[in-house]
Amino acid sequence: MHRKITRRDFINGVAVATGAAMMPWHLMGESVADQNAPNYYPPALTGMRGSHPGSFDAAHALRDGTFWDTAGRPEDTGESYDLVVVGGGISGLAAAHFYRKAAGRNARILILDNHDDFGGHAKRNEFRVNNAFRLGFGGTFSIESPAPYSVVAKGLIEELGIDVPSFSKYVSKNLYHSHGLSSKIFFDKETFGVDKLAASVNPHWGGSESATPESDARLKQFLSEAPIAEQAKRDLLRLFQEPKDYYPGLTSNEKKAKLARISYANFLKDLAGVHEDVIKVFQAYPHGLFGVGIDAVAAQDAWGLGLPGFDGMKLDPAPGKGMNRDAIPNEEAEKYFFHFPDGNASIARLLVRKLIPDAIPGGSWTDVVVTKANYAKLDQAVSPVRIRLNSTAVRVKHLGDAATANEVEIMYARSGKVYTVRAKNAVLACWHVVIPYICEELPEKQREALASAQKVPLLYTNVAVRNWTSFQKVGANSVYSPGMYHSSVNLDMPVSIGGYECARKPEEPIIVHMMKAACHPGLQARQQHVFGRMELYTTTFETMERNIRDQLARIAGPGGFDPARDIAAITVNRWPHGYAYEYNSLFDSFWLEGGETPCEVARKPHGRIAIANADAGAYAYTDEAINQAYRAVGELKKA
Ligand SMILES: Cc1cc2nc3c(=O)[nH]c(=O)nc-3n(C[C@H](O)[C@H](O)[C@H](O)COP(=O)(O)OP(=O)(O)OC[C@H]3O[C@@H](n4cnc5c(N)ncnc54)[C@H](O)[C@@H]3O)c2cc1C
Repeated sequence: MHRKITRRDFINGVAVATGAAMMPWHLMGESVADQNAPNYYPPALTGMRGSHPGSFDAAHALRDGTFWDTAGRPEDTGESYDLVVVGGGISGLAAAHFYRKAAGRNARILILDNHDDFGGHAKRNEFRVNNAFRLGFGGTFSIESPAPYSVVAKGLIEELGIDVPSFSKYVSKNLYHSHGLSSKIFFDKETFGVDKLAASVNPHWGGSESATPESDARLKQFLSEAPIAEQAKRDLLRLFQEPKDYYPGLTSNEKKAKLARISYANFLKDLAGVHEDVIKVFQAYPHGLFGVGIDAVAAQDAWGLGLPGFDGMKLDPAPGKGMNRDAIPNEEAEKYFFHFPDGNASIARLLVRKLIPDAIPGGSWTDVVVTKANYAKLDQAVSPVRIRLNSTAVRVKHLGDAATANEVEIMYARSGKVYTVRAKNAVLACWHVVIPYICEELPEKQREALASAQKVPLLYTNVAVRNWTSFQKVGANSVYSPGMYHSSVNLDMPVSIGGYECARKPEEPIIVHMMKAACHPGLQARQQHVFGRMELYTTTFETMERNIRDQLARIAGPGGFDPARDIAAITVNRWPHGYAYEYNSLFDSFWLEGGETPCEVARKPHGRIAIANADAGAYAYTDEAINQAYRAVGELKKA
């Protein structure tokens, strides 16, 4: 662990990150690469990605009220568009697509994004390890949603040619199982007193209806291997096998109303009376969905997610008031699943191909997986649609009164300078918290609603390793590690498609995907996200790398894993502004009471400006990014 790190990632990640992070936005110019340069290729960059150094400085200077002190006189590009879209994520790209469908192929559209790549959270990471090409998802993992895709969202997926039901053709479902690997849980000594990799407990096992002989055997194995207190083991068995009604005498709705207002951690502690080790085991279980642990997830949502303790409560299966949509099971939605090796970056790339065919040549929805994007084609005057990267919108305003103006002026910061363009319409498909700073003319109530949108801070880390023999030796392809820096560690989902070949043999290089929710248990969910965001912005890549190496060494070390030898590259996709915040019945009383929600107030159109992004639906899924784009475009003035 303490051997010198000599890999280039260290240089990329640490030196560039600290250097850029300390630089005022207007001096960033020289450090921002030119997207037309021949070697400009962000997917292959390693080190600190996601919200990378240089992408947020202008926006943060706006927030801090210092931006205009150093901005200088804006330069008029003289460019005029039918539509300017702020934000090049799936919502912004979809908005451009829908607008073009309505206004015609010659409609002139400019998309601005502050990152060096398009796609927003739908981010592609590329690696070359020895002679193997490996793809990873740096954000959005897959086409999936707790509720069925809308006609609009499904329609767009079909228009892009993606054959969702064909997924089974591309995934090697039994690969890891056939090599003797399975899901495990890692108990760390800081939380549980000893480092131990054990058989995992699936929270959905053990209930009277879902138990099978195999799950019973796994539960027994977990109980024999887990380094938790004997009382905790008895409590866990009791939770699974001795159903109890903790609110006798109440109706199902009355019980749900109570469960909506108590955290699952408190439910386990105060109602079920379990040993604290049980709570520690389940603490990080909801990280991947909510970005917080069970201390900030309602017991009603835990019931919806199938966590144990509710079998004896005789709750009718209908969703309760205030339930998070993630916690409402839906069979149709579960079947609609597709994972590309670069996640939904393939959706973003297929959208870009539709908008600017020369930028991502090719002809089929599967060949897009291996096609190299030509970034120099993204922003060409000859093309009706242009995507301008490294460009932060800093002011969006009507030229005249919003009700009667014919044009909107958009100012953006790029390479330390400010530029202006004009457009007949603008769609703000960027994060809602940014909008009050760039569009000051919006009504006060709307700006407040926009500012109230939280973002869930996350790390999606991809580690390219030279082989996975050590994982095979410890028998794990998926590790839940509730006490560690990253709460999940997974060998890449084995998908081969469109000429891309995943790793099939343990001797081959593979991507290990790790996920961290930067949460601070004990606080309200929104506060946890604020602190988590600060944590991610202030943690150096060096610290993250140390944690990654330490965690992988402790999990796979007994199988021979040596971080210095086996890690080929690390890409940390840092998302301080990650998932759209979804309303939480523990902390958002309006969500229980009904009525207009903040996101509905936030997304109201204003003159020639409409508002999209997944934030507009307070729902962190690709389908929502598409739905909101469609609505926003529909609200634009036609003349
Ligand atoms: C780590 C992670 C994993 C996820 N996994 C899944 C999944 O598996 N399945 C799923 O369906 N959904 C998933 N989601 C949610 C899904 O990614 C989003 O709902 C969707 O992609 C959001 O798209 P968007 O365009 O609304 O926002 P974004 O992708 O965030 O795009 C908005 C863009 O606007 C840019 N921007 C902000 N301010 C400005 C400005 N002033 N000027 C210019 N640009 C600006 C942002 O930097 C960003 O690039 C995930 C999200 C995250 C963060």
